[in-house]
Amino acid sequence: ALPMIYAVTPTYTRPVQKAELTRLAQVFRQVQRLHWIVVEDSASRSDLVSRFLSRCGVTSYTHLHVFTPRRFKRTGMPRATEQRNAALTWLRTRRTKHDAGVVFFADDDNTYSLELFDEVRPAGALYNQQGALYNHQEALYNQQGKLHKWLKHMESFAVNLQVILSNPRAQFKRRGSQPGMQESDFLRQITKVSELEPKANNCTRVLVWHTRTEKPHLANEPKHRKDTVVIEV
Ligand code: UDP
Ligand code: MN
Repeated sequence: ALPMIYAVTPTYTRPVQKAELTRLAQVFRQVQRLHWIVVEDSASRSDLVSRFLSRCGVTSYTHLHVFTPRRFKRTGMPRATEQRNAALTWLRTRRTKHDAGVVFFADDDNTYSLELFDEVRPAGALYNQQGALYNHQEALYNQQGKLHKWLKHMESFAVNLQVILSNPRAQFKRRGSQPGMQESDFLRQITKVSELEPKANNCTRVLVWHTRTEKPHLANEPKHRKDTVVIEV
């Protein structure tokens, strides 16, 4: 069978949440053998996300949740640490060395090209790809098509499932990782720069965009009263 793509998406409650997830689902549902791991930053699985997942057209998914402690919710602090780690734990307990696949970290606010998925999917079960990087700002690769330094800003990256399983202690860390360096710090625990594989024509094609969804102004929206219909946004 075609190796799986596990897309890991941390997400949290806000007015644009469903719009963000909808944009992702409409791409993901077109990708064969994609398993979507959605990890809510919440004390429990919300009805909104549960309903959304059951209808979104992505039929293979896992819905997890873990709440980020309040003290970690300050500006400048890394986001989604606990959520990504929850997905890693799920993979380590539910998948084995017989499962071929790749783990792709897909935040809910970015925009992903359909072409990306052909780039990240491993070719076969015995595939030694360590990681894959997508970058558009810096020239990171040398003539041999090898990366020569860690990136400060990575929009997204993928890691072979077997690399995740064979490094059972590797985690996203809050402590000791500078802002924006959490991803590189995680990759450092499982691989070396020279083992990273630049994708998308040696990182010259952009297949992920760090889009930003404007915060909507809802002050003038009617407040719900008992006799009004509640519409889920
Ligand atoms: N996120 C989260 N809880 C939060 C803030 C963000 O789970 O309190 C998720 C968010 O949905 C996204 C990821 O963490 O999938 C990265 O967040 P964001 O895009 O705000 O961070 P940035 O890309 O600016 O570092
Ligand atoms: Mn973001």
